[in-house]
Amino acid sequence: MAAPVSRVLSSSQLATLADHGEQRTAEVGETLFAIGDHSYPFVAIVDGEVTVTDAAGHEIVRHGTSGFLGEMNLLSGQTVFLTAVVTKPTHYIAVDREVLRRLLFEDGSLSDLLLSAFIERREMLQQREGIGIEIIGPRESSETRRTVEFARRMRLPHSWLLPAEDPRAAALVEALTESEIPLVRLPGGGELRRPNNGELSRALGIGLELSEREEVDLLVIGGGPAGLGAAVYGASEGLDTLVIEGTVLGGQAGASRRIENYLGFPAGISGTELASRAINQARKFGARTATPYRARSLEPGIDRHLVRLEEGNEVAARTVLLATGAEYRRPPVADLDEYEGISIFYAAGPPEGHLCAAQRVGVIGGGNSAAQAAVWLARGGALVTLLHRRASLSETMSQYLIDELERYGVAVRPQSEVGALHGEEGRLKSVTLTDGVELPFSFLFLFLGASPCTDWLSDVVARDSNGFILTGPDAGAQGLLETSVPGIYAAGDARAGSIKRCATAVGEGATVVQFVHARLASAPASHR
Ligand SMILES: Cc1cc2nc3c(=O)[nH]c(=O)nc-3n(C[C@H](O)[C@H](O)[C@H](O)COP(=O)(O)OP(=O)(O)OC[C@H]3O[C@@H](n4cnc5c(N)ncnc54)[C@H](O)[C@@H]3O)c2cc1C
Repeated sequence: MAAPVSRVLSSSQLATLADHGEQRTAEVGETLFAIGDHSYPFVAIVDGEVTVTDAAGHEIVRHGTSGFLGEMNLLSGQTVFLTAVVTKPTHYIAVDREVLRRLLFEDGSLSDLLLSAFIERREMLQQREGIGIEIIGPRESSETRRTVEFARRMRLPHSWLLPAEDPRAAALVEALTESEIPLVRLPGGGELRRPNNGELSRALGIGLELSEREEVDLLVIGGGPAGLGAAVYGASEGLDTLVIEGTVLGGQAGASRRIENYLGFPAGISGTELASRAINQARKFGARTATPYRARSLEPGIDRHLVRLEEGNEVAARTVLLATGAEYRRPPVADLDEYEGISIFYAAGPPEGHLCAAQRVGVIGGGNSAAQAAVWLARGGALVTLLHRRASLSETMSQYLIDELERYGVAVRPQSEVGALHGEEGRLKSVTLTDGVELPFSFLFLFLGASPCTDWLSDVVARDSNGFILTGPDAGAQGLLETSVPGIYAAGDARAGSIKRCATAVGEGATVVQFVHARLASAPASHR
């Protein structure tokens, strides 16, 4: 497991924080914040010591002089899920959350230090049992698996308790009907019965709650690199910009372990960090981001387009950017859904890396994302075999990743396809390939490419035969990134002919903003 991150602030950073915060003292045994609190200030320790513990009282980390408390929930607003108690007389600076947010926009080096420490701390906490929310429900319950998957994608520290294996969990759900499962227990005491993703987010204090009807200049649908790129440029150039995201801000890029080829980051950057930085930047300029809200339908209008959301809200937008990206493909194998989220995954992050140490793991796919996952899992101690359909990887994978596979001992099996899964209660024991060979994998990771998330659009905008959105001359539109409907644009992986990369998605998102300005400037006065 990763070691707890204990970083220190320089004397000039402490001085800056002192200018924006309140000097306080605390005696031994005093609690600075506790599990279930709705918020807490940023705490910079001038002198003293504070211990951070979980619900069972186990110490997670101790911070001393020049150290600081806090992790991602300080920025997201999520309910506190750890307790901080003073262990030596302490003099500290308390900085209000909103003040800290503003300070991070202004002070680059402080922002770098805090953001990377918060992200590392969250990654470490995700690998520990007994922290954050408890999700109680059986493996066979698809609603339980959906909730666990949402927690994973949101990177919420959580524990999944199985009533069949844990008497305490069994007692908690004994009196519940099937329609009330899973039971979700919140840090500090609240409970939710079969919450949808929005209810869970809101109960944890995460995310903006939209009004029944919103009116904006630019509605961005999808919070991946393309959407966030548009949000940063749109909001910084004065557009009233709203981003709605169906699951988790960051999109596919946010799920990537390490992006090595993004301009400006020669040592690579984790998807989580890139997404967190982009979200902060968009908010700094005043863009609003709302999750989880999913667009369900789009009705084009003359001066405003109407987007209805699955959650019942509607957004009337003068311009709309479709940046819904793409989703992984699922192979046509029987009983796949029984294993998904338990032993079959579509992304490899810290919880999966932890789960797979010393286990036999199959990674399916011949692209760069499969290679990145295989290397990540092998580095975490898993025995990894990468299976792919073609004769050679060099057609579909970057050479540096082919070299990394060899370096980290990943076995490569060409011309292989999975035909059947074997196991019980979602726990995989082996897979049979279509050539009849059986391989004893306990976990499988699938990276089979992606289909565009555009079905909800039906024929409102022109799409190609694979569902990708047509733009520019292909759509009979004037602007390069305009769809067949004036004032509705597409950018990133959902757009036909786009280059499926982070940098190009960000670039397209930013470019759309110029078209939006031109359209709004030419709109008749009555429509402004
Ligand atoms: C594992 C992995 C590793 C990768 N590594 C690299 C790399 O190293 N370098 C690189 O350049 N590229 C990499 N890529 C590709 C890169 O991540 C994508 O090209 C990029 O994320 C596309 O951005 P996007 O904004 O167009 O779409 P996405 O990132 O797919 O984001 C779209 C967002 O829209 C949301 N959405 C979908 N439908 C709706 C709806 N109806 N309502 C609301 N929201 C909706 C989705 O939930 C999603 O968050 C990687 C991809 C993966 C999966």
